[in-house]
Amino acid sequence: MKFNSIKIKSFLYLFSFTLLLTIIISFLSVQKFKELMFFSIDKTLKNEADIIIGLMKEDKNFIELEITEIKDGNYIKNNSGHYYKLNMISKNSGFKVHETNKVLNKVVSPSLIDQNYEFKILNVEKVINKDSEIFFSSKDINNNPLRVLKKNINYKNKDIELYVSEPISDTLHSIQEFKFFITIIFLISILFSIIIITSLIKLFLKPIADFSNELSNINHKNLDLSLDINNYPEELKNMVFYFNKMMEKISKAFETEKLILSEASHKLKTPLAVIKSHCDISLKKERTKDEYIDTLKSIKSTTNKINSLVLGILSLAKLESESIKHNNFERLSIIDVLNTSIDLTELLAYQKNIKINFEYNNDYYLVGDRDKIVEAIVNIIENGIKYNLQDGTIDIKIIKNDNNLLLSIKDNGIGISSENQNKIFEKFYRVDNSIEGSGLGLNISKTIIESHNGKIEIVSEVNKGTEFIIKLPIIN
Ligand code: ADP
Repeated sequence: MKFNSIKIKSFLYLFSFTLLLTIIISFLSVQKFKELMFFSIDKTLKNEADIIIGLMKEDKNFIELEITEIKDGNYIKNNSGHYYKLNMISKNSGFKVHETNKVLNKVVSPSLIDQNYEFKILNVEKVINKDSEIFFSSKDINNNPLRVLKKNINYKNKDIELYVSEPISDTLHSIQEFKFFITIIFLISILFSIIIITSLIKLFLKPIADFSNELSNINHKNLDLSLDINNYPEELKNMVFYFNKMMEKISKAFETEKLILSEASHKLKTPLAVIKSHCDISLKKERTKDEYIDTLKSIKSTTNKINSLVLGILSLAKLESESIKHNNFERLSIIDVLNTSIDLTELLAYQKNIKINFEYNNDYYLVGDRDKIVEAIVNIIENGIKYNLQDGTIDIKIIKNDNNLLLSIKDNGIGISSENQNKIFEKFYRVDNSIEGSGLGLNISKTIIESHNGKIEIVSEVNKGTEFIIKLPIIN
């Protein structure tokens, strides 16, 4: 049995509670029934005692008893269980029985054949008025169960003990029957509660079972699966909502990996084929030194392409898998970040004689991962060089707008047509394949900027140039 199972735990809790409740109810019902039964017997005993007391009269030093008045009925039937007995405790006194005029120390009902019979106290049931009235259970000569009231009376300064009894075999039998009936009811309710509790638990846990069923159907082919929140109860809606979100992320990551893998293998195929053909051709026959140098130069340039593609893929894969770590965040001066980025692109700009103008009045501060922000900006400046004309220019400006910094990187290069402006941020998208590149730079830049709560926008016109505007929150 698994004790960490909700099913078993809930069953044990609910069942123990129901069991306890049923036991208490059954016990109280039996107690109440007993009480009611004995209440009427005790009332009869009290009435009988009162009648006997009412029949007493003082006669000089004795008590005269009108026994004839109570001689009728059960008291004259032998061993009926209806007995009375009077003991005179006071000395020099006794009972004078009306009929015989005899003086007796005790008077006993004819039903109690043995005159000297003592009512043995088997169990004291009730004590009233400080022992002056005691109800107790006893047995008669024939071992029949009795309920006895013993009353200590002081009548005209004479102490008298009065015993009255009633047979209780029928009452005990009824109580026994009631107990049996309650036991049957108890067992039936336990059986029903087991059935009801089990069905309720099953019903309540069904959504969880459905949920896990849905999960068991997930595989790499249906990662885009989204569960319908409306099919789940209120308590599970949140969990299903976050599960869908998680699946969305996993599916996106999986798609990205697939795309990276297929694009990377596709893009690597051509340069690798180029290297192989250069090698094959060179090895076909003896070449001159210059020819070998040319071949090695071509291989080097193709290897550079592969290198830039692999670096792009590695950078993208790192961003996708780790996302940006906030513990690398620090206070950054935008002027310092831009100067570093310009330094890193200087050689490329120099090769095309492109002038990078960086204008600023004030420095502003951001919070972020320095290396990543530099990487994002370098990608954009590099594009401004790559897609620019010989002797072109790049203007870099920073403006403060409310709590944001607007960083503009503007070139006067080939520009981007409006239909391509939305697509260039997609992974591997390239407008013109004749210029070297991987199609990953802008996607990497966008991911970095957005993970710093920023935005990247573009304004461009074909043959006029392109302006990238990066918006980032600034701090004081
Ligand atoms: P890559 O430059 O390696 O091809 P990017 O993601 O950086 O990849 O750019 C995607 C495409 O967007 C480029 O192939 C190019 O067609 C276009 N592009 C990017 N920047 C510019 C720019 N400044 N001017 C013109 N076209 C650009």
